Amino acid sequence: IATTLMKSLPDDVDLYHVGETRFALIYREETGALHDDIASALLARMGEPFVTEGGITVQLQAHAGLVRFHCTQPETTDVLRMATTALYQAEAEQRPWAWYSPEFDMPHKRAFALLRAIPSSLAHGEFRLVYQPKLNLHTARISGVEALARWRHPKFGDVSPAEFVELMERTTLIHEFTEWVLHKALEQQSIWRAQGIDLTIAVNVSSRNLEHPMFLQMLRNACALYRIHPQTLRLECTENAVMTGTLTAATLEAVRAMDIAISLDDFGVGYSNLSCLHSMPVEILKLDQTLIKHIATDERAFTLIQSLISMGHSLGYRMLAEGVETAEVLDLLKHHGCDAAQGYYISRPLEAEAIPAFMQASRGPNFQG
Ligand code: C2E
Ligand code: MG
Ligand code: MG
Repeated sequence: IATTLMKSLPDDVDLYHVGETRFALIYREETGALHDDIASALLARMGEPFVTEGGITVQLQAHAGLVRFHCTQPETTDVLRMATTALYQAEAEQRPWAWYSPEFDMPHKRAFALLRAIPSSLAHGEFRLVYQPKLNLHTARISGVEALARWRHPKFGDVSPAEFVELMERTTLIHEFTEWVLHKALEQQSIWRAQGIDLTIAVNVSSRNLEHPMFLQMLRNACALYRIHPQTLRLECTENAVMTGTLTAATLEAVRAMDIAISLDDFGVGYSNLSCLHSMPVEILKLDQTLIKHIATDERAFTLIQSLISMGHSLGYRMLAEGVETAEVLDLLKHHGCDAAQGYYISRPLEAEAIPAFMQASRGPNFQG
C-alpha cells in the first residue's frame, strides 16, 4: 500500500505509517493545497483491485479524515487525533472522506470529562440507587426490587446509566463502581429488613465484573458485612456477560453455589445461543421490554412471548417480564403464566425512602397490580 501511495503522490507530500492499516499524508499549502478532488482521486486509486505477491487479487475500501492546520498553532500536536476523529466520522457516515469539524470531538470530549469526574463523584455521594419494585404474579405481592444507579453531577446534570456504565466498562472503574452498588444495595436491604420489609434485591453486574479475579471475594465480603441471606440476592447479567467464556462460567457456577440466583437480563433481544444458555447456571430469564411492549396490540408479539414463557418453563426457568406499562399487558402476562413483572405500570424506580409507603399501599385494595 505504501508503494502504491508513494507512486500516486507528488514529491513534496510526506507519507507516514502511523498505525496498523493507517497512513498519514502531509500536503503543503504553498504547493497546491489538498482539496476534495485530490482526496477523491487518491481514494479512487486506493480502491482499484491489485494483485499481491502471492497472486491474490485484493480490493480495499479506504476512508480518509482530512484536517487543515498551521504548524505555528499550539494544537499542532492534536492534528493526528483530529484527522482520526474525521476518519471515524467518514466511516460512520459511510462516506469516502470527511473534513475535520470540532463537533466531531464533542462525544469524545464528553466521554473523557465524564470518566474523569466519576471517581470524585463516587467519593462525594453524587451517585445513588433507586429501586424498581417487582410484582410476583402468583401471589400478587411485591416480592423484590431491582437496584438502578443514578448519577446527578453538579455540572453535567443527570447522566443516564446507559451512558456512564458503558464508559466505565471500558476502564477498571467498573469494578469499584459495582462494589459500591453492591454495598449500597445490600445496606439498604438490611435497613428495610430491620423495618420489617422483606424484599429480594437484584443488582446489575457487567461482564467485566465477572472476569475480575476478586469478584467472588468482593461478593462474599458484602454479603457477610450486611448479613444477607443469599437467597434474597439476585445478580442480573446480560447475555453477552453470561456467554463470554470459561472464566465467567466458573464464576457464575460459584455464585450459584453461594445460593445467589442469576437472572439473564434483556433476554430475547441478543443473539441468544440457546444451547449455551442451557449449560449456564441461570435461574431467571428476564424478558426484554422491547418484546413486552406491544403484546396487547400485536398478535405476533404476543405469540412470541407466550412461546418464550412456555419454553422457559419447560426448561425450568422462572420468567420475569420487564417494561410492563399497561394493565392489558400485565393481564396477558398473568394469564399466560409469567412468574413476575416489572414496569412503569406497577411502579417507576423509587427512592429508597419511598419504598415503605409503596409497600404499604401495595397491600391495600386499590393496588393496580
Ligand atoms: P436494565 O437492567 O435492563 O434496566 C431496565 C431499564 O428499563 C431501567 O432503565 C428502568 O428504569 C427502565 N424501565 C423499567 N420499567 C420500564 C417501563 O415500564 N418502560 C420503560 N420504557 N422503561 C422501563 P435505567 O435505569 O435507565 O437503566 C438502564 C440500564 O443501565 C439498565 O438496564 C442496566 O443495564 C444499566 N444499569 C443501571 N444501573 C446499573 C448498575 O448499577 N450497574 C450496572 N452494571 N448497570 C446498570
Ligand atoms: Mg437489569
Ligand atoms: Mg433489562
